[in-house]
Amino acid sequence: MSLRRPDAVQAAARARARMVERLRAQGIRDDKVLAAMMQVPRHAFVEEGLAYSAYDDTALPIGYQQTISQPFVVAKMIEALRAGRELGRTLEVGAGCGYQAAVLSFVATEVYAVERIRPLLDVARENLRPLRLPNVRLKCADGTMGLPEAAPYDTIIVAAAAASVPASLKEQLAPGGRLMLPVGGADQRLVMIERQGNVFRESRLEAVRFVPLLTGTE
Ligand code: SAH
Repeated sequence: MSLRRPDAVQAAARARARMVERLRAQGIRDDKVLAAMMQVPRHAFVEEGLAYSAYDDTALPIGYQQTISQPFVVAKMIEALRAGRELGRTLEVGAGCGYQAAVLSFVATEVYAVERIRPLLDVARENLRPLRLPNVRLKCADGTMGLPEAAPYDTIIVAAAAASVPASLKEQLAPGGRLMLPVGGADQRLVMIERQGNVFRESRLEAVRFVPLLTGTE
């Protein structure tokens, strides 16, 4: 039985509820984030053959040598970005299959998601279409340059690991804005940067493992 068949909608919802309980047990406390994770059918963002693994806490392949992010990491990053404030206008770099953009759409006012691999962006568009999320915009672009046309952003979240923090991303932060990205090569760590005027306060969070942030589009 496929999780995509209408008669399996209930099974998928139960699997999602178990995932959310696990996230809570792993320390995610932000109810709005947990509610957003409950809303988004993660199985619809992976190939049908992987649907049964969709609610496990693992990254899964989405083609083009890329992966859909691990649910815990998605929840953790959004929770840390939200602490004490609203996400507001949000830029996501590395839309991949569109999963995190969908989660963000429930907690941010506007989501601009960029992806450098055009066919993968087409997949994201197809995945997101049935969800009819009115506040998500997708674009094929090299996100190391940010997305100047819609800047500044209250929040920037990067789903691929950078060797160093791209200057454009810091520049496109609104006052009080926050940027979260994995930094490093083999050894990566999440870094959060908060803009106060022209001062950028940096804090280091947990160790993570992301695909690399590359330049250019393909
Ligand atoms: N956010 C996705 C995770 C996708 S993996 C999810 O919800 O599962 C990270 C993605 O970042 C890959 O699709 C990769 O192609 C993309 N990426 C890497 N470098 C990029 C860049 N400079 N600009 C835009 N996207 C980039």
